[in-house]
Amino acid sequence: MTKAKVSYDCSKCPGYCCTYPRIVVSKKDINRLAKYFGVTPAEAKASYTREYVFTEGEPDEHVREQILRHRTDDIYKTACQFLDKEHRRCTIYEARPDVCREFPNGKKCGYYSFLKFERKHQDDKDFIPSA
Ligand code: SF4
Ligand code: SF4
Repeated sequence: MTKAKVSYDCSKCPGYCCTYPRIVVSKKDINRLAKYFGVTPAEAKASYTREYVFTEGEPDEHVREQILRHRTDDIYKTACQFLDKEHRRCTIYEARPDVCREFPNGKKCGYYSFLKFERKHQDDKDFIPSA
């Protein structure tokens, strides 16, 4: 099947989606990370993810998510620890979580459209707007 043509180019983007604070991982994602790094799922969970708890609606409705750990970034405040800071690429591409494979879930990426608009407006092909 021919892959649908998309209107964004990740190779020209500093990986904004990898800076989202909550990149949720499933058990399957953790198992994949464990296999990739040759560690146990428990070790992968502890090393590469952390629990995020928030309240949705009612105060007693706690939602627990397991999310990828971040580290400080040179362009944005923080980014996924697997983002290569210099080349702005995923360093675990084959083992990345499902949510990273699916994003941006369509032919368009909102951030890339914004980036393209700003670069044209600034007449600077490398311009990076502060998000
Ligand atoms: S923000 Fe959009 S264009 Fe940038 S890396 Fe993510 S999917 Fe690609
Ligand atoms: S795992 Fe890779 S694609 Fe997913 S957020 Fe981290 S650097 Fe980005």
